[in-house]
Amino acid sequence: MLARLFRLHGLLVASHPWEVIVGTLALTVCLVSMNSLAASSQMCSWNECPKVEEKIQSSDITVLTITRCMAIVYIYFQFKNLRQLGSKYILGITGLFAGFSSFVFSTVVIHFFGRELTGLNEALPFFLLLIDLSKACALAKFALSSNSQEEVRENISQGMAILGPTFTLDAVVECLVIGIGTMSGVPQLEIMCCFGCMSVLANYFVFMTLLPACVSLVLELSRESREGRPVWQLSHFAHVLAEEEDNKPNPVTQRVKIIMSLGLVLVHAHNRLANENPGHNRTVDGPVAKRLESDDTTWPLKLTSMDMEQVITLGLALLLAVKYVFFEQTETESSLSLKSPIISSAPSQKPWVAGNCCRRDFPAQKQHKTMNGFLATHISPPAVSESQLSPEADTPITGKEEVTPAPAVSEENSPCISSFGDFPVPRSLEECVTILSDPQRGARFLSDAEDYDYSKVMGTCCENVIGYMPVPVGVAGPLLLDEKQFHVPMATTEGCLVASTNRGCRALSLSGGCRSRILADGMTRGPVVRMPSACRAAEVKVWLETSDGFSLIKEVFDQTSRFARLEKLFGNLAGRNLYIRFQSQTGDAMGMNMLSKGTEQALLRLQQQFPDMEVMSVSGNYCTDKKSAAINWILGRGKSAVCEATIPAKVVTEVLKSSTAALLELNISKNLVGSAMAGSIGGFNAHAANIVAAIYIACGQDPAQTVGSSNCITLMEPAGANGEDLYISCTMPSIELGTVGGGTNLLPQQACLLMLGVQGTSPIQPGENARQLARIVCATVLAGELSLMAALAAGHLVKSHMTHNRSKTIISETPSQNSGDGKC
Ligand code: NAP
Repeated sequence: MLARLFRLHGLLVASHPWEVIVGTLALTVCLVSMNSLAASSQMCSWNECPKVEEKIQSSDITVLTITRCMAIVYIYFQFKNLRQLGSKYILGITGLFAGFSSFVFSTVVIHFFGRELTGLNEALPFFLLLIDLSKACALAKFALSSNSQEEVRENISQGMAILGPTFTLDAVVECLVIGIGTMSGVPQLEIMCCFGCMSVLANYFVFMTLLPACVSLVLELSRESREGRPVWQLSHFAHVLAEEEDNKPNPVTQRVKIIMSLGLVLVHAHNRLANENPGHNRTVDGPVAKRLESDDTTWPLKLTSMDMEQVITLGLALLLAVKYVFFEQTETESSLSLKSPIISSAPSQKPWVAGNCCRRDFPAQKQHKTMNGFLATHISPPAVSESQLSPEADTPITGKEEVTPAPAVSEENSPCISSFGDFPVPRSLEECVTILSDPQRGARFLSDAEDYDYSKVMGTCCENVIGYMPVPVGVAGPLLLDEKQFHVPMATTEGCLVASTNRGCRALSLSGGCRSRILADGMTRGPVVRMPSACRAAEVKVWLETSDGFSLIKEVFDQTSRFARLEKLFGNLAGRNLYIRFQSQTGDAMGMNMLSKGTEQALLRLQQQFPDMEVMSVSGNYCTDKKSAAINWILGRGKSAVCEATIPAKVVTEVLKSSTAALLELNISKNLVGSAMAGSIGGFNAHAANIVAAIYIACGQDPAQTVGSSNCITLMEPAGANGEDLYISCTMPSIELGTVGGGTNLLPQQACLLMLGVQGTSPIQPGENARQLARIVCATVLAGELSLMAALAAGHLVKSHMTHNRSKTIISETPSQNSGDGKC
């Protein structure tokens, strides 16, 4: 019931942050102004409280200095704790702002009730010691576990439900304990304790209202500023925190606190009753009022004593600030890389804390990681024998083919090595394998440099990371393309695919290889804008087709990237909706983000020209990205490539185990007529998508772009003097890929690109690497087409898949699993 109330309160506050913040500030201002109307007493300013002088003389300067230093160190550590959430300043400042607000509140409220304050400079250190930013930290953890603003609200309310009752009880106990001091009879202590009580109450009020509102608002603003991308990926916190012992109120402690509170209430009640006796009635105002009358003659003495104190305090504050701002940068950055994403919310598991990046401190973190990632990061193709690679063909081995070892990605280049705490230098492969295969240790005892570099993933490739999925990588080749040899990495779980493609590559190599050309290069983005009328939309279309219109848009578009250069604008209408297909080269990047960025700016410029234009979406599906569309098939998208080869009859017979005539007939029946019968768009091929997807996964491409990239028409013709040789071509108009950006930034994927000699920016000319990769994709597709078509023509497909694509484990497990009724 109580938790529900707190939950509802949390939801209300988090949903209306502006109202709460403005309301709280307005209330403070009201109190201040009401206070100023009360002319009965003066509020002490920073150093001008009349009683400061007396107090300085009588109080122990050393104690005061120590208190101040303690307060500074305390705040420093509080900031450090908040920093473990991934926020260097925002959360700390929010917490301090909340703290400061409660300070103002206490001051105002105390004054409002006619009490006199001690000098604020003396009260502040004590007050700072009362601020508990861990509360802000605990609440922020709940908020940070969210992926959307709705989730922020929900998680804040959940946090309030869990933390609220405990904090309420804590505030009551703190107040009652500090309140004891108000009965001490020592005027100075009484004032301070009175101030302390008010501060605790004000702090509590701020925690319940201003803090959740601020956290909610800060996250909302942070998200907006990053274009909707979640700022923190700590979704595990919500699950873990709900079960964390630290946050669960301990029933014994709770009971002690309640009993203690009752006792203290009795003490307070007794004291108040006793105070009703006029003989004992001594308010804090009496003695203080006398001191208020004291003169200010000894201020030089005060100044001297305060100077020393201030120098120490300020020095310490500066020292810690410098340390925090400058010397803890590396530590934070490495911890922010979320090196050890947490997987499970098992009750025994402590939440992952960014600062504690060494996995050995958190043995449960990687328990669900599925396999040794370093094998994926150190791709080194094994020497594969021909018989292993040609299961469909029973091809006699004509010569042992050596697979060129993949160029290893230099570990020295990996930034994670330096950032890894305990092992500055990654251990040897053998040592890592030993650790990995040891059931007592496993992957959690490996560093990121030895296992998987998550810092490259965060903020770029994936969110809410729980690990990585190892996919087997095979190699097909050598592929003889344009008189160069390539070993093509293919990531797949479809048995036979790599072997079949490899057979195609062998047939091509024995035939003198294949030749390729790039026909076009231009990524596209097709936004949709709406005009008041179809006629007006037509005007915009016409304007865009004028050279002035195009130039104006191009000027803005080209400024958004060093590589993107607008080449074409292709507009089309549907009623008053105007679809504009922006086309641009994108250097070595696939270019989708690049195009989106340029298009957005261009649309803003277009809107200046046509103020009545409404931008419906930066993508109007006229691009068309990741969906089957005739526009890509007809106009092309990304790289348009063509590849051809002539296979001598002997190779068709001996390597492909088929005949030219059979292949020609099957190509017409299946790839042309069959696809036409199915109403296919761009699917006039046997299995281009198989090869495209496998290369894309291995080489860090966006796998969803297999949709458009596998558009392909495979054509076969008789060739040679007697028509027994086979001419084959593959035309692929929309290969969407890059060698820079996206998943190509990850080390294993880079290793695969390096195998092909196309990793990163082309040294010859930006774009050459990406175009070369497109040629390789097209040629490998051609190899795959050759082999599969031959297998189909010869009736080998089912047999080879049964032999090489069925898991023996599953097959042998099936009878025992289904024993009894024999049904699945
Ligand atoms: P990107 O990584 O967003 O942009 C490429 C970056 O590399 C740019 O900052 C570019 O510089 C820089 N660059 C350096 N050398 C380059 C070179 N030689 N050639 C080209 N650029 C070079 O990559 P992107 O290809 O534009 O986008 C790929 C990502 O978009 C993938 O993760 C993919 O999954 C995702 N994607 C996005 C959308 C979408 O709608 N936004 C759709 C599908 C996929 P400049 O800053 O000077 O340009």
